[in-house]
Amino acid sequence: MAEKISEFFLNNLFECGGYACHCEKDIKNVVPGMPPETTLKLYSELDKPLRFSYAPRAGLNLTGIAGGAIAKNILGKLLATPDGDIDQHIDFFQTYGFLLPIKSDEYESIEADVLIEIVNRIKAMLYLMNAIAGQKDYKRILIHTAYLLYAPQISLNLSEVEYKTCKHKFTDLIENYNLFVDLSRNQEVFNCGKYSVPDTMIGCDNPVDIVFFNNVRSGADTDLVGSKSVWFKNLFAMYTGLPNVGENLRTIIDFFYHYQTEVGIFREIEFKKITYFAAPERDNFSSEMKIALLKIARIVISEEINHNISGIHPKYKTDNFAPTWQVNNLLQALYFSIFYMKPGIEIYKECNNPNCKRDKFFLVEATRTNKEYCCVQCSRAAAAQRFRNRQFDN
Ligand SMILES: [Zn+2]
Repeated sequence: MAEKISEFFLNNLFECGGYACHCEKDIKNVVPGMPPETTLKLYSELDKPLRFSYAPRAGLNLTGIAGGAIAKNILGKLLATPDGDIDQHIDFFQTYGFLLPIKSDEYESIEADVLIEIVNRIKAMLYLMNAIAGQKDYKRILIHTAYLLYAPQISLNLSEVEYKTCKHKFTDLIENYNLFVDLSRNQEVFNCGKYSVPDTMIGCDNPVDIVFFNNVRSGADTDLVGSKSVWFKNLFAMYTGLPNVGENLRTIIDFFYHYQTEVGIFREIEFKKITYFAAPERDNFSSEMKIALLKIARIVISEEINHNISGIHPKYKTDNFAPTWQVNNLLQALYFSIFYMKPGIEIYKECNNPNCKRDKFFLVEATRTNKEYCCVQCSRAAAAQRFRNRQFDN
């Protein structure tokens, strides 16, 4: 980087310090026939200080004391860490430090599953931002939105800080809300066997059949496979019993109710995967549902970012009289760099070279659909591979 130091510091929107860390893996066999539990033991290495800085377009970089970049695009490197691969996650943390402050004189213990889940949430957020940019991918929007809303809150207790993932209002309700509205003296039910729910997605009252209502409440069979599941039951209790919970939450409830009664009921939601009780009727995924889903995706992204940057404060630097941000740890720095991404304009794209070892996930403007490779080398390597493949074909 040929930039002058003064210019470099002016261009940076924020900086953040940290330390590389040492990490060991403890594997404990607990239950016969079940996979072992992996616990990470970490401590920070005070003799290996790190400095991160963020500048628009350049992204979050690991920088040297004089300001030159040692490693670029740290967020892209986290995205490129293979899903669920704990050893590769360990490599990332040993090089770039842990997400949160950890002790240097004793081990901190962290469950591998908890850590992977925290990283998966960052990935899901970025994939979601990609899916809503440019040509919208509604299947992916649904998968990532549902994961961020349905996955239970995770907490990480370290000796100096306690971190909790974002708990959306909906997350709390889908786990716990099981109070059904009392319709025993309802006049509409008495007159015509229906109960009208004011519905934000269809824009008018939706009459719910009282037999269906009673069957879902009591856990009896209905025409819908999966209607006995706790998730669906709680969602149905919310749909029929929580009319005044604010527009955003109501949009979420109404969307999931329509989607599941018309397309399919969720059995399980994991990172990058939804399973259904019966084969989903994807043709019923209507344009009204898609509009609502897009709105929900934006709500979820905002709540996730706001939750994770809430510990960042503005600060005035005495040495060079300049405004800056007090960013306390790598996790905040990662979310803060997502905060500065322009949603719908910039996306993290995956390099089209399957053997990419350089910038596997790179920041690019969403409109640049022709930029498929992170660099010239990858573009050339892929072209050479195509040439070889053609020769084999002949
Ligand atoms: Zn590449």
